[in-house]
Amino acid sequence: RVNRQDFLSALDEVQPAFGVSEEELQQVIQNGIIHYDASVEETLRTGKLFVDQVRTSSRTPLVSILLHGHPGSGKTALGATIAQQSDFPFIKLISPDSMVGYGEAQKVNAITRVFMDSYKSPLSVIVIDNIERLLDWSPMGARFSNSVLQTLLVLMGKRPPKGRRLLIIATTSLRPILTDLGLSETFDSELNVSPITTLRALDVVIREVKLFSSSQEHKEAIRMLAEAGFRDEENAKLQIGIKKLLSMIEMARQEPANVAQRLTGALMGLGM
Ligand code: ATP
Ligand code: MG
Repeated sequence: RVNRQDFLSALDEVQPAFGVSEEELQQVIQNGIIHYDASVEETLRTGKLFVDQVRTSSRTPLVSILLHGHPGSGKTALGATIAQQSDFPFIKLISPDSMVGYGEAQKVNAITRVFMDSYKSPLSVIVIDNIERLLDWSPMGARFSNSVLQTLLVLMGKRPPKGRRLLIIATTSLRPILTDLGLSETFDSELNVSPITTLRALDVVIREVKLFSSSQEHKEAIRMLAEAGFRDEENAKLQIGIKKLLSMIEMARQEPANVAQRLTGALMGLGM
């Protein structure tokens, strides 16, 4: 006899071939989101407004936003977080990392397939990560893949079928080239993701990743950073993406004796 439980477990088993790729999203948010200053919350909050707009307004079935900023400023992780927090039934990441070795035609196919799959879901988010790399942009002679560009232009401008709604979140570190490529008009809104510029934000990150085991050591390190010229108010001296900062911190951690010195040295070595 088939009972209700069998029925429910069967539903669990019939995972669609498309849908939310949890693993893929998790991977790009591996290190979590540290709320090192108000801009982080602000970006997530604004992202959520667009998610809500797509969810509730029947007049805007297609909304696209662009997260741009400094390399390593956290665009991919923020984009993926906004997508994940939408709880939409279809969430997919289009990433150059998953298309290594693809020819142009394969890329065009893969991108098109994601959009077509999204049209089967009432609510979808597609994250188009690192758009310049997806386009094989090369500053040498300003070369790029025209077929990928044309595909994106068409798909990003196309309203989903009736009753379907789609949010597109794209990321780039090369905001200006999107204008040259005619891509910037396709975005409804642009959010700037800024690098870390204050000692206070450094302080939060260092504390959050538990670089030091005692608060005494932590304080000492902050004092050292202040002596090196890092300040709570923004200045040109400090400008570092969270991605690079986290990797510097992990490097510094390797030699337990001189963690604070190593970190200060690395940050000063940025030469800004
Ligand atoms: P790239 O320019 O190389 O594409 P990116 O700007 O996309 O880099 P991410 O790949 O998102 O940067 O890297 C940010 C890393 O920092 C991730 O591992 C993420 O988990 C972590 N992280 C911690 N706090 C934050 C934050 N507030 N915002 C974004 N990322 C954060
Ligand atoms: Mg990225």
